[in-house]
Amino acid sequence: MNNTKRTELSEIGEFGLIDRLKAYLPAKSDKIIKSIGDDAAVIKNSDDSVQLISTDLLMEGIHFDLAYTPLKHLGYKAIAVNVSDIAAMYGTPSHVVVGLALSNRFSVEAIEELYAGMKLACDTYSVDLVGGDTTSSRSGLGISVTVVGTAKADEVVYRSGAQVNDLICVTGDLGAAFMGLQLLEREKQVYLANPEMQPELTDKEYIIECQLKPEARMDVVKSLKSLGLKPTSMIDISDGLASELMHICKESNVGAYIYEDKLPIDQMAFDTAREFDINPLTIMLNGGEDYELLFTIPQSDYEKIRNHPDISVIGYIKSAEEGVHVYTKGDNLVPVTAQGWNHFKSSK
Ligand code: ADP
Ligand code: MG
Repeated sequence: MNNTKRTELSEIGEFGLIDRLKAYLPAKSDKIIKSIGDDAAVIKNSDDSVQLISTDLLMEGIHFDLAYTPLKHLGYKAIAVNVSDIAAMYGTPSHVVVGLALSNRFSVEAIEELYAGMKLACDTYSVDLVGGDTTSSRSGLGISVTVVGTAKADEVVYRSGAQVNDLICVTGDLGAAFMGLQLLEREKQVYLANPEMQPELTDKEYIIECQLKPEARMDVVKSLKSLGLKPTSMIDISDGLASELMHICKESNVGAYIYEDKLPIDQMAFDTAREFDINPLTIMLNGGEDYELLFTIPQSDYEKIRNHPDISVIGYIKSAEEGVHVYTKGDNLVPVTAQGWNHFKSSK
């Protein structure tokens, strides 16, 4: 590493930083099938199985605001977002460990509430919480979760396997979690300005729940497996469809066409976007925190998913030279750029 020159994090962004760390940390053991660069690391066991390992850090003030986030939901989300990375490898999660940074602002009962949510998620996804670490914090609550999972070695799906002409699929719908966040933020401002005001959140339960208590799509992983289908590439949507599609295209060395009119959006998310004067396409592409799965399948597998209620086909894979584009409802072909939650970029 070059230690004489000072480079600002904002110059290279989160993904630029990860690329630099990756170049600095070549894998030592030949048991490492995948190191930095996918949703989870993949480590060979002595039989035909692999271990999957992934970690996510949630920081108060960056990833959540306790003004409107119930601790039980937060605990649930901390586990679900980790399970989502194992789902994105087509694996099965088994264990989690939890690191907590706490200030004395929290009572024992509050921490138990956080753990009630974690336990609920562990029960939902059949994983065991088997340890962690606890420390004090002077700057809010921090929750670090590491998840371990398993898969057969030949079952794992990487970001890198997409082939030209493959169909691009997405689970569930997009943008709801982002609109839920906009709504919660707006109501927080209203409350701060006038604590007498009651929040206007009726009929918005779905998008608020998508933000506060997202689910990992293990259900879709299970149903794809039972259909005898293995995607050629897969990633979970944490930073937004655009950013994740760019990851698949970069790792697979391909391009892509997606169609605005094929992108799934919930009616409530659509209406709320309009209410906020935000283009629904923008929230579908860049919203983030959907924790849906984005994956590619060969065209010959189309029949298997055609009537699946939780899967939309949104486009197809092109050659790298053709780039990554979205065909809009207004018949424009617009290049897709990754504007995910690139934490250090000054534009965010
Ligand atoms: P995801 O959104 O799926 O959690 P990230 O974008 O956070 O993935 O990370 C992409 C890849 O970079 C993963 O393989 C992850 O393990 C790795 N990575 C992220 N941060 C670091 C870090 N600080 N040190 C080493 N590897 C990292
Ligand atoms: Mg991921």
